Amino acid sequence: MATFGVISLVPILLLGVFLTRTVRSALETGALASYGNSVQLMTGGMTNLVLTPEAFATGALTPESAALLAKVTQQLVGPKLERLEVRLVTREGKVFWATKPELNAGVVPPSPAFTDAINDKLDARFAVVGGTRIARFYIPIKFAGNPQVVGIAEASTSDTVATQAVNGRLRAIYLVLVIGLVGLWMSLFPIAMGVARVLRRQVEENEHLAMHDTLTGLPNRNLFKDRLDQALSRSTRSGHHTGLLFLDLDRFKEVNDALGHRQGDELIKLIAHRLVSAVRDADSVARLGGDEFAIIVPDVSNSSTLVVVAERFTELLREPFEINDITVNVEASIGVALYPDHGEDADTLMQHADIAMYAAKDGGLDYAFYSAENDSNSPVKLALAGELRRALDNDNELVMYYHPLVDLHTGDVTGVEALIRWNHPTRGFVYPDDFIPLAEQSGLIRPLTLKALDLSLAQCRRWHDQGLDLRVAVNLSARNLREPDLPDRVAALLRRHGVPASHLELEVTESGLLSDPDYANTLLCQLSALGIHLALDDFGTGYSSLSYLKNLPVNQLKIDRSFVNNMSEDATDAMIVRSVIDLAHNLGLNVTAEGVETLNQLDHLANLSCDTIQGYHLTKPLPADEIAAWVSGYNEQASQNTEGRSRSVRNPVSIPFQ
Ligand code: C2E
Ligand code: CA
Ligand code: CA
Repeated sequence: MATFGVISLVPILLLGVFLTRTVRSALETGALASYGNSVQLMTGGMTNLVLTPEAFATGALTPESAALLAKVTQQLVGPKLERLEVRLVTREGKVFWATKPELNAGVVPPSPAFTDAINDKLDARFAVVGGTRIARFYIPIKFAGNPQVVGIAEASTSDTVATQAVNGRLRAIYLVLVIGLVGLWMSLFPIAMGVARVLRRQVEENEHLAMHDTLTGLPNRNLFKDRLDQALSRSTRSGHHTGLLFLDLDRFKEVNDALGHRQGDELIKLIAHRLVSAVRDADSVARLGGDEFAIIVPDVSNSSTLVVVAERFTELLREPFEINDITVNVEASIGVALYPDHGEDADTLMQHADIAMYAAKDGGLDYAFYSAENDSNSPVKLALAGELRRALDNDNELVMYYHPLVDLHTGDVTGVEALIRWNHPTRGFVYPDDFIPLAEQSGLIRPLTLKALDLSLAQCRRWHDQGLDLRVAVNLSARNLREPDLPDRVAALLRRHGVPASHLELEVTESGLLSDPDYANTLLCQLSALGIHLALDDFGTGYSSLSYLKNLPVNQLKIDRSFVNNMSEDATDAMIVRSVIDLAHNLGLNVTAEGVETLNQLDHLANLSCDTIQGYHLTKPLPADEIAAWVSGYNEQASQNTEGRSRSVRNPVSIPFQ
């Protein structure tokens, strides 16, 4: 307030100084002019009374004229114009008479003032002579009936004489000015204060908006970043760790679509509220966007504290939410990064918490700590991605193995699943689980899928030419389902290799469909319209709802091998397998059981009317050139097994290699 008062006084003072200067100079100019007029009248009278034009022309006075002039001047100048000194000068500048004898000599140097006067213009100005300010006038002298200026009178006097009257008036004006300005300041000050207060509030509101999320009121990304920077500097000073958790809701898009956006917003608010209620005062919860939250946990001694925090959040969100009498269950994936172990600056730490969060999501975990392994940007991964890129251009590093599929009803080998292998020059045989995720993260999955399709369709054609009629199943990755040109590319490859669409099956996973279900559905419809078979892979591990499944253009469900593997020991898994088979049949779909490793499992599946099997019980995946031999060996054995009997439908006995 005091500062504001002082600051607001400054312009008022400046205004005051400016006004007084302007007024003073205006008054002085006025005073000078009017004083000049008096001087002009006086000198005019003086010379006209006593002198003739000739006196000016010659610059010489008769002694009588000089004496008369002195007398007249005494009378006129003395009482009227104090201390006025007058000199008479010819047009050429020669001084020929002065009020004081010591001034009566020499030549007036040429000057604009002098020229003005010669040109019949009175010149009045202040000048400083010998350290004192004087008022000086150059007065043109004319005689009646003669328009020419015959010479000039140079008159000087102390400036105070000229401005005496001014000073008196100035004092009065200053007083009015001061009173006026103080009054102005006093009336403007409260107004300005009010405006300032409103502006400050506005600025504060804007700052709050710029730093907070409007929906939840939580700090937004900007403020979060500030707080993280601060927390990290404090951490560096104290030597403690700081934890950073990134929390992302699983399948929020579905929930949002199902509930409607208003309720979705409501849910986000409730979640925000729950998160805030569960943290310590020192912790900081922020909403980074959509369904993504971040929590800064400062001053932790080690990662086990963060395990507790992550578990607490998981528990907390597991409690159902009530929105308008609807119970909503949410799940979240949490990525955890620890300062300074997982990053020494805010950006790296955030990046790593993000990577950890995706690792949790991909692995179906509640939370995951950052590790260089799941970081596609870690040096090891970057190097491997570079090698994979090279392998894609290389003809013999990436090869397809084929895993037979057998129809349980007929016992026939109906197709093979193409499984990619990386024949790495130094690392040896690399399995897909070790490089497919990397391909997905590094954007190489697109060329990889196209390569797998190209190799598999070329092989399918070769088998066909050898009289082996096999459908090949190729795996698609979630990312492939976001490539709008996929159907065109697949159609082009089918044409290139002369393979009918019915001989290609594409396997997609449930989780692959979930990131953008609507788009994936459109893409699958286009693929299906080409006549391609579609299979839903790893079924049972995802979350497909029945209604969703009903509308998908798939022909086949592949029960995930984890259920098949455990079905003999685990009653629940056996139940799941049975229900999936029934469900699929009710929807008019075929069922493949993958991962069949034992005869026991095969029998069980046959009893449940499973349609197709795949697994090590038949064979491990084989290189292309071993398939023909394997199929004929299989067929031979099958015909022996079924000798004397028809290869009865649904009779597992017709399957060889028992
Ligand atoms: P998937 O699609 O579920 O493929 C089946 C996997 O299970 C294969 O592993 C296969 O070797 C294995 N398997 C089959 N029968 C049995 C069995 O009886 N017991 C056991 N323990 N395992 C069995 P693989 O070849 O290592 O492939 C792993 C995953 O990599 C595949 O799982 C698939 O998701 C992915 N993958 C493989 N090739 C490709 C490809 O060309 N493109 C894409 N996008 N993904 C691929
Ligand atoms: Ca598969
Ligand atoms: Ca599978």
